[in-house]
Amino acid sequence: MPDGLLFNIANWTGLTSMSNSKKKYFTVLVVPHSEEQAISFRVPLFMIQLLCVVLSMLIIGVFILARGYITAREKTEEVDILMEINRKQKEQIDLLASETENLLMQVQRLDDLQEEIVSLVDEDIALREKHDQNKEADLEKKPLASLQLASRGDNLVINRMANNISTLQGELPSKLKELEQLKGAVEDYRKKLAHTPSIRPAQGKLSSPFGPRISPISGRREFHTGLDIANSTGTPIFAAANGRVVAAEYSKGWGYYIMIDHGYGYRTKYAHLSSFAVEVGEQVEKGQLIGRMGNTGYSTGPHLHYGVHLNGVPVNPTDYLN
Ligand SMILES: [Zn+2]
Repeated sequence: MPDGLLFNIANWTGLTSMSNSKKKYFTVLVVPHSEEQAISFRVPLFMIQLLCVVLSMLIIGVFILARGYITAREKTEEVDILMEINRKQKEQIDLLASETENLLMQVQRLDDLQEEIVSLVDEDIALREKHDQNKEADLEKKPLASLQLASRGDNLVINRMANNISTLQGELPSKLKELEQLKGAVEDYRKKLAHTPSIRPAQGKLSSPFGPRISPISGRREFHTGLDIANSTGTPIFAAANGRVVAAEYSKGWGYYIMIDHGYGYRTKYAHLSSFAVEVGEQVEKGQLIGRMGNTGYSTGPHLHYGVHLNGVPVNPTDYLN
C-alpha cells in the first residue's frame, strides 16, 4: 500500500459527542498508513450545514452559468446560420432584381424591334397609323427607366424589384396585343405584296416602253399603255401576282389576251398571246404559267404586251418590276 494519508471520516452517521450545551460536533479522524499518530479534529455541525449550503449554491450557480453559456452558444450558432441565410437571400434578391431589369431591357428591345419591323413595312399606311397610336399610348405611361429606384444591395432593392415586376405585368399584355396586331398587319402586308404585280411576266427583249410613242401599226402618235417584251412565239407567260383571271378572250386589237384582277386596285393585262393556260374565274399565283407568247391582234411580230392598271388607270409596269 502506498504511503499517504487515509482520511477516515468518522461519525458521519451519528457518532456524535454531546457537549453540555446543545452544540453538536463531528469528529474527523485522519489515520496515516504509516506508524505515525492519527489526527482527529472536531467540526461543529453548523459548519457542515453551512458548507453544504455553500456547496449547493455553488453547484446551482455553476449549473445556471453552464446552462446560460450553452444557450448563448446555441443562440450564436443560430444567429450565424440566420446571417448566412440572410446573406444568401440578399444575393438571391439582388439576382432577381437584376433579372427583372434584364426583362425590362428585353421589353424595351421588343419596342425597338417592333419599330424596326414597322419601318420595314412602312409602306402600309394602316400599319403605320396603328403603330403611331400605340406609341402615343406608350408615351403616356411612366418611362421604364424611372422605375429603377436604387442601386443594388441597398434597402430599396425589393421596392425596385416590385416596381419592375408591376411594370412588366402592365407592359407585357399590351406588348403582346401590339405584337399580335403587328403580326396581323404584316400578314396583310405580305398578302398585299403577293397581290401586287412585281415580277417580269416573260423573258425577252423590251421592244417598246410605257408612254407616248409613234404607233408601229398606224404611224400616228399614241400613248402606249404597257410595255412590250419581244421573244419567239410560244415563250411562257407568267402571272405577275396572285389574283383571279377576269378575262381570257379574243379582241381585234389585243388578239388573245388575259386580264387578271389582283385586288387592292391592281389589274394586269397580257396581250397578243398564242394560247391560254388558264380559264376565266381561275385563281392564279404569282409566277404561274398563264399562256404563251404570240402575234395575235394588232401586232408586228411575236411579243407580249404587258399592262398594269391601278384603279382602272394604266401605270408604268417598269415601276413594278423587281
Ligand atoms: Zn404594247
